[in-house]
Amino acid sequence: MVLNLPGQAEVIEVGPRDGLQNEKTLLDLPSKVRLVSTLSRCGFRKIEVGSFVHPDLVPQMADTDRVFEVIERHPSVGYVGLVANARGAQRAARAGVDEVNFVIAASETFNQQNVRKSVARSLAELGEVAGFCKSQGISVWCSVATAFGCPFEGHVPEQRVLALVESALSLGVAGITLADTTGMANPVQVANLVSSVKRCASGLPLALHFHNTRGMGVANILAGLQAGCMSFDASIGGLGGCPFAPGATGNVCTEDVVHMLEEMGVQTGIDLDILIAVARDLESMVGHPLPGQVMKAGKRSQLQRVPSASGR
Ligand code: ZN
Repeated sequence: MVLNLPGQAEVIEVGPRDGLQNEKTLLDLPSKVRLVSTLSRCGFRKIEVGSFVHPDLVPQMADTDRVFEVIERHPSVGYVGLVANARGAQRAARAGVDEVNFVIAASETFNQQNVRKSVARSLAELGEVAGFCKSQGISVWCSVATAFGCPFEGHVPEQRVLALVESALSLGVAGITLADTTGMANPVQVANLVSSVKRCASGLPLALHFHNTRGMGVANILAGLQAGCMSFDASIGGLGGCPFAPGATGNVCTEDVVHMLEEMGVQTGIDLDILIAVARDLESMVGHPLPGQVMKAGKRSQLQRVPSASGR
């Protein structure tokens, strides 16, 4: 079978938010600023810098306002902040975000665990956030968490995801991310859901967000790409997880995804050499090995020296 792939795709860096929020070690402000500032020079069009949620719930993100204040911004990068309510959106606006990412789960139980409210309440707050952000000239994106399955409820019916996407669109969001929060998606499911969403909302800017919990992350990206999705969240070094989902591991690794796409002839506009250097630097910042593979093996094009024969 010949793969039908686009000539280019977008990779969105979410490591400073989704990655760092699950680290036991809190990164200090200068380290976070160094990470975001160097990532800004890699060629990303969007970087999710942090979240504006209650610091008691996610202490790793308590200084997101300060990070936004200090980072060196690159003019071609959109800097995103995750929010779950209107108060978060107001903080994000004060911090100078370019885009707000509002998170809402397709599963009732997961939404309660994640943001302590019902899905209906979250949708009402998305309406408030969308209205506020419009008045501030800030774009609003909606991330649908547990779109491919919930660790507490199990299977999430496609119909429920589609209804949520339609509700979010009616509130004026600029695009939707379907998030596989705990790595439950498989490639066939991804192709089916992407096709259904595209059928219901043609022309909708759509992104996919995979965690590599069960090793299906890059296979899911390939399935999403073939089904017509062109944007993918990923986390530098494969850092990440979710503090409210037991057993969840990191996002798909940015360097591994960029490497795979570029090797297949799908351009990302991202400088893989700088990215690998940033991943190695991050590994020393967090003080433990990261799951990324290209950062260890190097690029496929990087050939090894033939060992000299022994005894001579
Ligand atoms: Zn995630």
